[in-house]
Amino acid sequence: MTRRKQYLFISLSCIALAVAILYLFSGCTSRYVANRQAGEIYNHRSFNDLYTPSDLHKIITLPPLTIHIVGRHELFDWEIAQDVRNGVFGYADSLRWAIWLLGVRTNVGVIVNQNVLGHECKHFLHRYDNAVANPHNYDKIREVLSDGESGYRGDGE
Ligand SMILES: [Zn+2]
Repeated sequence: MTRRKQYLFISLSCIALAVAILYLFSGCTSRYVANRQAGEIYNHRSFNDLYTPSDLHKIITLPPLTIHIVGRHELFDWEIAQDVRNGVFGYADSLRWAIWLLGVRTNVGVIVNQNVLGHECKHFLHRYDNAVANPHNYDKIREVLSDGESGYRGDGE
């Protein structure tokens, strides 16, 4: 990414932050919208803290994924996830190349938790190419490698 694109990226992030703050204090938004926007801001911040320009260009084509969006835990096809007390909001079924997650019907369409969807997609990226980090290892990041390639080759699950 060129320096110009970096500045554009940072500028867009600042604009998104400003818009989110405006919405937060405008009183015309739901708690869902405010929390989602705040979450996106923090997600962008955390990635920006990590982001270092490099020559990385990894192409991964996944086999077709089936995504099951269900309205309650009992509709999951995994017994552990069916029990609300276990706190499972989604999971990746790597044998059947499927993601299961909760969804909610709204006036604009079905909404899913993008953090859950992203997390489960990251599992498939890792399983298909283990140079891509396992999302369960994100808390173990100690350094960003200068060549942009992950030196990590273990499974670590
Ligand atoms: Zn996971």
